[in-house]
Amino acid sequence: MKVGIVGAGAVGSTAAYALVLQGTASDIVLVDLNTKLAEAQAQDIQHATPFAWSSRVRAGGYADLAGSEVVVLAAGAAQRPGDSRLDLLERNATVFRQIVPAVLDNAPDAVLLVASNPVDVVTDIVARLSGLPAGRVFGSGTILDSARFRALLAEHLGISPTSVHAYVLGEHGDSEVLWWSGATAGGIPVAEVADQLGRPLDDAARATIDESVRRAAYRIIDGKGATWFGIGAGLSRIIRAINKDERLLLSVSALTPEIEGIADVTLSLPRIVGAGGVLETLNPAFSDEERAALRRSALVLREAADSVKL
Ligand code: ADP
Repeated sequence: MKVGIVGAGAVGSTAAYALVLQGTASDIVLVDLNTKLAEAQAQDIQHATPFAWSSRVRAGGYADLAGSEVVVLAAGAAQRPGDSRLDLLERNATVFRQIVPAVLDNAPDAVLLVASNPVDVVTDIVARLSGLPAGRVFGSGTILDSARFRALLAEHLGISPTSVHAYVLGEHGDSEVLWWSGATAGGIPVAEVADQLGRPLDDAARATIDESVRRAAYRIIDGKGATWFGIGAGLSRIIRAINKDERLLLSVSALTPEIEGIADVTLSLPRIVGAGGVLETLNPAFSDEERAALRRSALVLREAADSVKL
């Protein structure tokens, strides 16, 4: 499988490295405005291949993306001191106005996988600029938030995270919604499992898990300035699901015709990911409180997307 990555910074290069370690891509092309950086990252990652799987990793221009099945969009302007969220969005819209046509000219059949933040709004921008069908443009969304939710629930229950099904939906950010009423283990709601195991999920336990999921990125950024390993591995996992047509259920972000009365909003819902991108979206059954929270999250994202003029 050939994978193109636009933006060879921390996130893009870590995704390439994870693809090599997992043996998912046979051909990886890194494109960056900073060609010296792209060359250096490609060489460094290529040097890992003798210890992992054989992949060809190289730096290139947009023409080298030809034949890519997936193109990861991990480019972006970094936030400058004094920048508002809107300033950053405006600058990133400018970046993607250049990138999207260049990618589509050279890899017209590729799935576009957006990783740049704020991921929901950037995915919305890329979807609108590309005009591609919704399933072929999607963002990493809340995959990491959901992974963390599962891991923390599993830890609380004392069972394997692979036996816990739980999703974080809505925005990848402050307004995200932990879908507690849909979290299950062994087909049983987690609250009931917790009672059966004598490890009740009381309000305090729920609040601790909620805070830990919601604030995870802030804590990492506080310690190391940005996050890249988790998202790099997550992007590689998504690409494997596409490559193997796994039809894996993941909370990824895509343009959604309607959710909780809000039209055309890009946010995370449980979606089936396989060959060609997002194949289906599931419609979760929410509690009243979760429904209201998801509506608030959708409104935050709709407003942010509306504020960017294309
Ligand atoms: P992150 O932590 O999100 O990966 P970085 O700043 O490390 O952020 O990486 C973003 C990368 O995107 C940088 O290497 C930068 O050169 C690249 N970039 C910015 N604008 C463009 C553009 N228009 N085309 C290609 N790459 C770009």
